[in-house]
Order: sequence, then C-alpha cells, then structure tokens
Amino acid sequence: MVGITSLTDKDRIFTNLYGFQSPELKAAQARGDWDKTAELMKLGQDKIIDIVKESGLRGRGGAGFPTGMKWSFMPKEPTPGRPNFLVINADESEPGSCKDREILRHDPHKLVEGALLAGFAMRARAGYIYVRGEFIVETEALRKAVAEAYAAGLIGKNAAGSGYDFDLFVHRGAGAYICGEETAMLESLEGKPGKPRLKPPFPAGAGLYGCPTTVNNVESIAVVPTILRRGAEWFKSFGREGNAGTKLFQISGHVNKPTVVEEAMSIPFRELIDKHAGGIRGGWDNLLAVIPGGSSVPLVPAAEIADAPMDFDGLKALGSGLGTAAVIVMDKSTDIVRAISRISYFYKHESCGQCTPCREGTGWMWRVMEKLRTGDAHVSTIDQLYDVTKQVEGHTICALGDAAAWPIQGLIRHFRPELERRIAERHGHIAEAAE
Ligand code: NAD
Ligand code: SF4
Repeated sequence: MVGITSLTDKDRIFTNLYGFQSPELKAAQARGDWDKTAELMKLGQDKIIDIVKESGLRGRGGAGFPTGMKWSFMPKEPTPGRPNFLVINADESEPGSCKDREILRHDPHKLVEGALLAGFAMRARAGYIYVRGEFIVETEALRKAVAEAYAAGLIGKNAAGSGYDFDLFVHRGAGAYICGEETAMLESLEGKPGKPRLKPPFPAGAGLYGCPTTVNNVESIAVVPTILRRGAEWFKSFGREGNAGTKLFQISGHVNKPTVVEEAMSIPFRELIDKHAGGIRGGWDNLLAVIPGGSSVPLVPAAEIADAPMDFDGLKALGSGLGTAAVIVMDKSTDIVRAISRISYFYKHESCGQCTPCREGTGWMWRVMEKLRTGDAHVSTIDQLYDVTKQVEGHTICALGDAAAWPIQGLIRHFRPELERRIAERHGHIAEAAE
C-alpha cells in the first residue's frame, strides 16, 4: 500500500522548523502545543501506547525500531526502588544529521510536551534529555522551554492538571560522538565514561541506574503529541506500509539549496531534491552518488537512487538505509575515495576503544583507505580491505563498528573500477619514474 508521499503545509507537524516564529510557550500554545494535554492523558497509558503502535511510528534516531513496541517493553507496575525512566537522545552527532537541532532551537515545546506524554505512557516519573555538548544555543532554548513548562504547571507536580507528577532534566554532553549510542549515553548520565554496554540486556530491562529505561530520539518524541491529537490513521496515511508518517529530511552537499524539510516518508528521491533543495548542482546528469541516511549507511550510486522511495525499506533494498534521513548529495566533482576515507577517519577518531575489532580495525581501515586514495596499493588490497570490514561488521559491542565498515563496503561495491584505476595510474607513474 502506498500512502501520501508529498506533504502540504497543513500536514506538517513542525510548524516552526525555520524559526520564523518565537519558540516560547505562548507562541507554541498559539500553534497548538499543550492544547488540552490532560485530556490526551485521560486516554490512559495503554491506549496511548496502542495509538503510537497503530500509527506505525518507527524510531527517528536511525535504527527505525517501532516506537510503541519499545514503550510496551517497560514494566506496567514499576517495582519500588526500580522506577521507570525516559531518556531522550538529543546527542545528534551523525555526520550529515541536523534535524533534532532545529526542533530544539525552534520547536522545543513539542519535545517537552512529547516527553510528558511518552513518560506518562511508559509509567516514568522522570525524563532526561541528553543534549550534544556542542549544542549551546539549543541547550539554552530547551532549558528555557522546560523552565516555562514548569512555571506554567505543565510539568512537575500534577503535570498539566493531569494528576500525574513528571520531572524533566536537561543534561549536556561533553562532545563525544559515542555518547549518542544509547547505552554509552546511560553510562555518561550516570557520571561514567561513555562506553557502550553489551546488549542484551536492552535498556527496557536494565537501563539508567539499572532501572527500566526507554531511550528515544528527539524527533520520535516530538511527533507524539500531534499523533495523539490527529490520530494514528492520519499519521499512517503518509508513506508506504511499514514506513509510516512524516519525516525530517536533512539535505546537504551538492544541491542548489541545502535544507531541512519535513516531508512524507517514501517520497521519491528526485522529488525530494527538486521540490525542496533546488535540484542537483549542475543538473541531474552531474549526480555521482548519495549517502541517504547519515555517514553510517553505504552510498548509493546516481542511477539507483534517482527514483528510490526515501524510506526504511526502499533504501534497504538498495543495500543502504534511511538512517537519520541525512541525505548527503555528491556530484561528479567529488573525490569519492577521499570522501569515504574521511568518513573512515571520523570513526577511527570516535571509537571508544573498548573492543578490539573496532579499536584496531577502524584505524587499519582508515590507513588502507588512504593508500587506496593515493593508489599506493595493490589490487588485492581492495579484497583484503573488504574482508576486514566483514570481520569488523557484527563483531563489536555497539553499532560504531558496523558504521565504520558499511561506507567502505558501499564504496568497494559501487566504485571498484575507480579504486583499480587509481592503483593502475600510480603504478604507471612509478614505472615511468623508474625508466
Ligand atoms: P539497534 O537496532 O540496536 O536498536 C534500536 C533500538 O531498539 C534501541 O533503543 C534498542 O534498545 C531497541 N531494541 C532493539 N532490539 C531490541 C529488543 N530485542 N528488545 C528491546 N529493545 C530492542 O540500533 P542502535 O545501535 O540503537 O542505533 C543504530 C543507529 O543509530 C544507526 O542505524 C544509525 O543510523 C543511528 N545513529 C544516529 C546518530 C544520530 O546522530 N542520530 C548517530 C549515530 C548513529
Ligand atoms: Fe567502542 Fe567501537 Fe566497541 Fe562501540 S564498537 S564499544 S565504539 S570500541
């Protein structure tokens, strides 16, 4: 089933995404936030979880895990001394991703109200919003929104007049990418170095301070009040089956007008770019490749991406992924090997170092990528590198190992002739120099 794949203004959830209006409480209320929140809570905790399940909302942080299902893993009757917690991941650090930043700056009350509704549904009395360390303006805007909500009685004791007590805390990180990994985030919140934990147990079983915890992305939480107001069917009317809803796409790189835009899931790539980003720089014939979901997912060459539906399943079918929907467009002026090598350097730099395949593998893969960039390698090096990415993939504590392996695999899969050309050219130069 294919639903609506192109939004009109009236369909948009984030009506202040570009900050044309004030982010403050009064303006947010005029836009519809905090409208009869207590009435929504009267639906009851299980009904709210059911609506979110029914809406088809999948996690917007990159992995796409069904949000309502995640909430349903939380104990319905927390045991004394083991409270349920909500943790909101605002540590947006994936290269190319810049959507949560816009929510925090311009529409923070959507997140604060969403936190109350989500916290209530999962029987949490406290929520923590973990904000990326570099997000100074965003943290200030969020803290202001939280303070306004407390002052207006919308959170805290008897939140929004619902009879439910709910506290919300803002915690700023210190700039480590790995703290965006949910269990590293929990460690960091507990005051420890941000090193990911082995899963299982998943946070719903043992999370913050060993208590049941749900970690959700900013966008996932911020869309919840609107889903509850407009209904699951409304949200599901956008996108293809299994890929429901509206989504913030972040379009960067070689387009005429880089932007962040809320669109329907499953919008075809070409339509997304032409409608919102002014087309590809130099025209569609100038497109080389696209990284459609932030640096962790493999690139897709021009010919394959043009008509692809921008959703979880559509991009998976192309051997890539929607990830955070951070769309990085590269035209034919791009040194594609250098671009992927730079991404490899990023993962080497951000590895927390606690597991060997990632600690040693990311550095090795980057060094070999640099050799391939200059052509200072043998053709067999390409296969050796591919083999090593396969040794890293799936053999590490967290997804950073996979994220380091996948972009290289994508490069080898789609641009092997370019790698071979560089090697041949370099060897040609050496032979010439020797004559
Ligand atoms: P994951 O698939 O392991 O987990 C996704 C979520 O589902 C987690 O909250 C996890 O606890 C839960 N979950 C999964 N299986 C479960 C089960 N059996 N029982 C209970 N809960 C379960 O993915 P991840 O490691 O959390 O995230 C990886 C993604 O993060 C990547 O795809 C990447 O796109 C994204 N990412 C985003 C950013 C960013 O800035 N937003 C940065 C880096 C990576
Ligand atoms: Fe740390 Fe890398 Fe292991 Fe993740 S995969 S735990 S970042 S060493």
